Amino acid sequence: MKRFGVIGQPIAHSLSPLLHNTAFSLLGLDCSYEAFDIDPASLPAAIREFKDQGFVGLNVTIPHKESLLSLVDELSDEAKAVGAVNTVTLSGGRIRGDNTDVYGVAASLEQYRSEIRDRIVVLIGAGGSARAITYALIDRFAPAEIVIANRTQRRAQDLIADVEPYAKKTSLRAISVSDENLDRLMPSASVVINATPVGMFPLVDHSPIGDRTSFHSNQVVLDLIYTPLETRFLSLASKCGARTISGLEMFLHQGARSFEIWLGRRMPLEQIRPVILNQLHTRKTTAKP
Ligand code: NAP
Repeated sequence: MKRFGVIGQPIAHSLSPLLHNTAFSLLGLDCSYEAFDIDPASLPAAIREFKDQGFVGLNVTIPHKESLLSLVDELSDEAKAVGAVNTVTLSGGRIRGDNTDVYGVAASLEQYRSEIRDRIVVLIGAGGSARAITYALIDRFAPAEIVIANRTQRRAQDLIADVEPYAKKTSLRAISVSDENLDRLMPSASVVINATPVGMFPLVDHSPIGDRTSFHSNQVVLDLIYTPLETRFLSLASKCGARTISGLEMFLHQGARSFEIWLGRRMPLEQIRPVILNQLHTRKTTAKP
């Protein structure tokens, strides 16, 4: 049996085991996938242990994505550019690090490709996932400008300094999320993305831009959060006629890409989506996302 897992802390509520085990079962693969709660101080020893036990692949989540960079033998170009690893492959005694969040966000936005090229994107947040989004946008969609609005403006500036060498056709600008210029900029954006945890269960009445509603019907609005599926941010956007995408799409696609890297098989996402949706609805009714 091939063994896989996800490592993070906390990890108990991860949907990755359900995602991958459902795929194994649908495809009749002799594989298993478990969640492991790993303390940051134990990470190097844990990786050695997974290698010794013959694990084939691991997904990596908060707080280990950056620490993995120094624990792998090889890094994909995307993991290098983003500065974070979310997928580890253990093969032939070597450890390779990939970043499939880049693929995940690109796949979520693919159908709106023509509305991103040469246009303006407003990205709220400057953490690890905002890095993957910024790289995916400049590498695959070439918008004219990405405005990165973050609570801590310095962090947005640091993100820009790191990814700017890859931005051939896109200009990058950092502002504070509380800057009133954001209200003036928002209507000019064709895509608005939330890459902060603001609005996630249990604080579902919160939105990363408060109650500012400068959305309109020519916009696409993506929230990385998927608990709840429709956040306050998406609900405000939807009321203004914008097309909305929940974080579930990115979650499904980043997982499917890891699966493909490990097994060379496509994950049957259309069959798995209802299983994950059902689990999210069950959690909602028992109030444990
Ligand atoms: P992170 O590295 O910790 O970054 C968090 C970001 O959110 C930072 O920009 C931070 O601003 C901002 N933030 C946090 N709390 C805030 C608050 N109360 N008010 C304003 N800004 C706040 O986290 P991450 O890995 O980027 O993840 C961000 C979100 O995306 C999380 O909700 C995560 O669950 C979700 N996510 C979803 C997927 C998916 O597959 N759908 C994948 C990855 C992440 P400061 O710099 O000012 O602290």
